[in-house]
Amino acid sequence: MSGLSLVSRLARPRLRASCARLYLSAQPVHAKLFSSGRSLLTQLPNTHIFRAIKDHDSASLAVVHSLSGRSFTYGNLTADVLRAKEDLEKKAGRMGKLSGERIAFMAENSYDYVVMLLAIFGCDAIALPLSPSFPTGELQYILDNSEAKVLLATEKYADKAQEILNEGLQHELLFDIRPKLAVGAAGSEIVPLEESKASSALPAGGMMLYTSGTTARPRHGNTPPKTDSSTSSPLHHIHGVVNAIIAPLFAGSSIEFMYPFNTDQVWNRLAAPFLPQTDPNSPAKSKITFLTAVPTVYNRLRSCFPSLSAEIQQAGQKGISPENLRLNISGSAALPTPTKTAWQSLSGGNVLLERFGMTEVGMALSCGLDFADRVDGSVGWPLPQVEARLVDTETNQVIPVGEETDADGRERVGEIQLRGPTIFREYWGNTKATKETFVDGGDGRDPWFCTGDVATRRVVQGAGKGTSGDWARGPMYFIQGRKSVDIIKIGGEKVSALEVERELLSLPQIAEAAVVGLPSEQWGSKVAAVVVLSPNAHATGRNGKSWGPMDMRRALKDRLAGYKIPQEMKVLETIPRNAMGKVNKKALVKEVFGV
Ligand code: AMP
Repeated sequence: MSGLSLVSRLARPRLRASCARLYLSAQPVHAKLFSSGRSLLTQLPNTHIFRAIKDHDSASLAVVHSLSGRSFTYGNLTADVLRAKEDLEKKAGRMGKLSGERIAFMAENSYDYVVMLLAIFGCDAIALPLSPSFPTGELQYILDNSEAKVLLATEKYADKAQEILNEGLQHELLFDIRPKLAVGAAGSEIVPLEESKASSALPAGGMMLYTSGTTARPRHGNTPPKTDSSTSSPLHHIHGVVNAIIAPLFAGSSIEFMYPFNTDQVWNRLAAPFLPQTDPNSPAKSKITFLTAVPTVYNRLRSCFPSLSAEIQQAGQKGISPENLRLNISGSAALPTPTKTAWQSLSGGNVLLERFGMTEVGMALSCGLDFADRVDGSVGWPLPQVEARLVDTETNQVIPVGEETDADGRERVGEIQLRGPTIFREYWGNTKATKETFVDGGDGRDPWFCTGDVATRRVVQGAGKGTSGDWARGPMYFIQGRKSVDIIKIGGEKVSALEVERELLSLPQIAEAAVVGLPSEQWGSKVAAVVVLSPNAHATGRNGKSWGPMDMRRALKDRLAGYKIPQEMKVLETIPRNAMGKVNKKALVKEVFGV
């Protein structure tokens, strides 16, 4: 997977066990249902992920539960995965029976999650992580729609799993495992992976993800069998599974789970290695070297920072400085420049690396490791193995490199289309949707996936010189938003909602912003903004009044062309967002403006 190489290249030579990752997590369940012993050793598919795990030092830490400090080595992980896989196959009746089948699982963000995920890959099956926060009805829909053969749940979610089964499914499960999936605890016998005879058959396993998305009803993709598949932060989402679990496992890093997400605890953890050691008996905390999150998380960390004690502030800042936190990534939603700038100043120079990904494609475009290749507002270049093109939204013509502006010198806006081995294969059981999202390139090669996201492309001075790798060269991509909701057409002009949001967020009075298009008799559409004001904004309007639409328009006068400035502004206490911090703009327009 292309996004993974970024992490492994950085981490492999030096980080090893010190590469701790922060992720949302729950108390691990250490159910010991398996007897130990080499008799349980069975074959594992010969895939990248298992080959990588096999190469790591078995004594190296793989997973740490942040709050309790309990930890599991790669050796523990291998042993537990083998046992869990063996147990699954035993229950299925024979080895290989689960190959290519969907196995749904519900687990807290923890060691158990990692074992379940890998055990399913080990069965050459398709892992289908379920979000426990989804209502039972939606989970039933997912189980039926995917025709999952098996449902697994940890003890924590045994009741939820029971609820789903009580309501009844429209198809039969082969079996279910509640209340717990058997996973070993730390200290379980270490079984070297070399002893398993890796199978040479093309794997049928992979990952299936359902996401409520921001655009439609649950989307779901089945990853292509030729690549190792994985997932992501919440862990039913691509960001968490790929970037927070699979990539670190590839790189031999230690993944540290922290659950539930709590900004103070995250700061305490980042600060811990740089605080004076008070208890000589407690082991020293290693520093966090890699952090990946959606922009909202960086915002929340930043906004709670002033409330921390001076000691935590100082140590926390050290923890996120470029020499300690070696890579901090933002993705899954547009990173507002003010968020990036504020994080950079708080950390003493750490520049967030922005990348663009989707459930259907994993990570597709990314800025580079060289700070010069992390350009504001840009998602960088197509990652290795990913081919990208822009297709003009007006003319439907491919925009060739070097022809990114029209005759009037205006940047051409095009839909991002992608192809390559990391792109998903199909929407499960929905041939129509699959057909509609792929277009033939006319060159006899694979079709292109139409992302529905639009972008401009341009060469940026000082960036793209290849210092981050050969893939990071030439013009960079700048996301303008979703074709369906973020491109607002006013008369003949196109306005990117993301561009207006960026400007709104750079005003000190605005804490959050969502820009939408509303119908206009005169122009077809008009720009409107839904905002959350900063706590101190209220009395900063004219004559000491509260800050309102007129103030907003005045503040943006010199920053945006007149037609881009929102004509309406509604102030809310909070803007509703999904678990990934994304706003469903269609629902927001209905709720706030009633259209
Ligand atoms: P999901 O499948 O839930 O990961 O959502 C994918 C969508 O998130 C993409 O189609 C984009 O609309 C959006 N997205 C992901 N990364 C970025 C980014 N860096 N900037 C702007 N939008 C993004």
